[in-house]
Amino acid sequence: MALELRPNCECCDKDLPPDALDACICTFECTFCRDCVETVLSNVCPNCGGGFAPRPIRPSREWRDGLSTAKRPPSTKRVSMSITRDEARAFAAGIRNIRPEER
Ligand SMILES: [Zn+2]
Ligand SMILES: [Zn+2]
Repeated sequence: MALELRPNCECCDKDLPPDALDACICTFECTFCRDCVETVLSNVCPNCGGGFAPRPIRPSREWRDGLSTAKRPPSTKRVSMSITRDEARAFAAGIRNIRPEER
């Protein structure tokens, strides 16, 4: 199963198309822009507590059969956080000083 390429930042709702360089994901594919990851979330996913990595870019050209954004299109379902930014900040405050690999 392919990575679900979600269309927006869960926090600020910025568009994050498949070729966005500032899209970040957690291991559960929770998706945020880099700005929110750094300034709001402090590299703590508000949904799972894990850290973030840059989202890999899916090729738009079909270099290999069936494996392109045309053949495996991104999700169109916009997602938003179920908690407020302040709640996300409060959640991160207790976790941010623990490195992701030690959480
Ligand atoms: Zn954002
Ligand atoms: Zn997460």
